[in-house]
Amino acid sequence: MHHFEVKRGKMTCEGVPVRRIAEAVGTPVYVYSHATLSHHYKVFDDAFAGIPHVICYSMKANSSGSVIRTFTNLGSGVDIVSGGELARALDAGAPPSKIVYSGVGKQIWEIEEALRRGILMFNVESREELETIDAVAGRMRKRAPIAIRVNPDVDPKTHPYISTGLKKNKFGIRIGDAIREYEWAARRKHIEVVGVDCHIGSQLTEISPFVDAAGRIRLLVDRLLRKGLPIRLVDIGGGLGITYREELPPHPKQYADAVARAFSGLEITLVLEPGRVLVGNAGVLLTRVLYTKAAPSLKGKGKKHFFIVDAAMNDLARPSLYGSYHAIVFAGPAAGKTVTADVVGPICESGDFLAKDRRLPMARPGDLLAVMSAGAYGFSMSSNYNSRPRAAEVMVSGRRFEVVRERESLRELAGGERIPSFLSPGRRKAR
Ligand SMILES: *Cc1c(COP(=O)(O)O)cnc(C)c1O
Repeated sequence: MHHFEVKRGKMTCEGVPVRRIAEAVGTPVYVYSHATLSHHYKVFDDAFAGIPHVICYSMKANSSGSVIRTFTNLGSGVDIVSGGELARALDAGAPPSKIVYSGVGKQIWEIEEALRRGILMFNVESREELETIDAVAGRMRKRAPIAIRVNPDVDPKTHPYISTGLKKNKFGIRIGDAIREYEWAARRKHIEVVGVDCHIGSQLTEISPFVDAAGRIRLLVDRLLRKGLPIRLVDIGGGLGITYREELPPHPKQYADAVARAFSGLEITLVLEPGRVLVGNAGVLLTRVLYTKAAPSLKGKGKKHFFIVDAAMNDLARPSLYGSYHAIVFAGPAAGKTVTADVVGPICESGDFLAKDRRLPMARPGDLLAVMSAGAYGFSMSSNYNSRPRAAEVMVSGRRFEVVRERESLRELAGGERIPSFLSPGRRKAR
């Protein structure tokens, strides 16, 4: 469900025609629907109503302060993967008591900052990380609350780059080694064992991998409890998929029921780290057609058209990176006859495309297109490749819209840059 609609050839986001946003802010621009974000959060939260739980929005999906604040205003915590995310989560109003810190490569300054703020727990991914956290907490005269991220070795049946719960992946500790690692951790003076964690991958569209993983985690939790370890938090990560094309992912309720069943009878609080499912369909990327051209006809086939647009792989990397599908929709009237087209950006790589071989109405320069379902892993993965300023971001609520991040300026592109003295001609200053 989302609040982007095309009626009589015009796309609106909630009560705002998106053409107005493009005219006021320029393109490319990300547009987020506040009502959609809130709705997704509430549906997810309600699904778990029957069981004590904390939702920690996985902010790497979309790190916009306005998006995070939308969720923290509704009671959400945040799942972070870096010290930068910690800072931004706190700025956006996340209570430290609802922040969980995931990731395989936490640095000392990041651990220190998280301890200083008093986060809910560290999801620890290796023995060496445990040692480091113990040492840092010792120096700070604190005890660090931890869960071990266990790798349950289940196949999430998703794209290999976003599959994380197989034993060949870099993530977590093998489930078979978990007991030993927990017993070791429990003996550290500055570590407090509080939970068990797993996250098996992203964009899962079937329930069975979640059920398998939860079942294995349940067995582990039972064994840890029998050994007297005070497990009170069970974090089952994120990963619930969304519809980009024709996928039929489980409804949050179905997902919640399956998870709750796996942990029934335990006195634990579930920690959930949804990312994509909350934000993916709540955002679009608006882009304008710059030029069109056609490739020579292929034998027996019609012409292949290219719509060259002002958004590119630096703005939305998913198609180039994972071959992902994003629907392309004309945000304004489309009168042309239907053609087969690639929607491509200006970047000097053949991998720079937003869509391939789509049946679309023939475009004209100036046409406004919406790249759908771009709210997750869109802006947050964007870069400056080809020295392209990063896009602006807008949030819509009802009939209002506001810029929530300015388009990057050309000045900011070279922000921290210095020309070394040995490159300065003669004695002239570098600039
Ligand atoms: C990326 C990530 C998530 C969120 O995944 P989604 O598929 O966006 O829900 C949750 N937990 C961890 C540890 C992650 O790395």
